[in-house]
Formats: sequence, C-alpha cells, structure tokens
Amino acid sequence: MKYYNFDIVFQEIPDEVTLAVNITNCPNHCAGCHSPHLHGDIGFPLDEAEIDGLLAKYGNQITCFCFMGGDATPQEVARLAAYVRTKAALKVAWYSGKPQLPDTFTAFDYVKTGPYVPEKGGLKSRGTNQRLYRNTGGKPVDITSRFWR
Ligand code: SF4
Repeated sequence: MKYYNFDIVFQEIPDEVTLAVNITNCPNHCAGCHSPHLHGDIGFPLDEAEIDGLLAKYGNQITCFCFMGGDATPQEVARLAAYVRTKAALKVAWYSGKPQLPDTFTAFDYVKTGPYVPEKGGLKSRGTNQRLYRNTGGKPVDITSRFWR
C-alpha cells in the first residue's frame, strides 16, 4: 500500500484536527472522481516506519490520523490503523469509497463510506449517498448530518 501525499485538515472528521494520508491504487473509479491521480499504484510505501516518521513530525499537531482510501487492501488499512493506536493517543479514521461498512469497522474511530456520485455530492450535500460513522462502543453511529450544519 502506498500514499501520494498528506495534509493536515479540519473538516474531514468533525471536531478533530486530522492528518489525512492520501492512499493510491484506488480501485473504485467513481464517475467524476476528484482525485484521478490516486488511481495508479504510485507513491511512497506506507508501513510502520513511514507512520513512525509522520507521527514524529506531526503527531503533536493532530488529534486524528485518517487513511484516505486503501480499498484495494482493506486488511492492510486495518492493520496499520491498529499500529497507529499502539503508537499514539489519536483517533483513527478511514475514508473508504465502498458502499458498505468494512468488516474491520471496530479498528477505527470513524469510517466514511460511499463512492463519489456527482449528482448526489459529497458529505456536505444533504442528498449525498456518502456516510460518516462514529464507532460508539463498537456500534456505528451515523453522524453525516454534522456536515450539514
Ligand atoms: S474513491 Fe475517491 S479517489 Fe477513488 S475513484 Fe472514488 S472519488 Fe476517486
């Protein structure tokens, strides 16, 4: 699993300052994809050493670590999410493009589901097909409406 780049963002996960890591080799090919450069298997390998480096540089500036993509290798996303939890007291999130929650949901504090559908819009659109779930005691709670306020 590789990543293209990362950024510190404020709106992807409500109430969190998030290090969003953009994973490549996206298999979803949504119509109207806003990030076609993420379709190829390119970038830097994302492994424990790379995560250690990111946390050393940015860990004290963030409250959440978010895997943006990774649907080609969901078990690897979950494995690295567990690793982040062993290394830092951060929330861990996953932006998946799949329509359903992953079997590995409990490895995360937040999971976003749903491909991008141009006519329905992203999470900020009330008509969106996408959902953001918060892990509340192991159960998914839909908090998508937080984006509509
Ligand atoms: S999941 Fe994201 S990166 Fe992948 S095709 Fe859809 S919009 Fe593009």
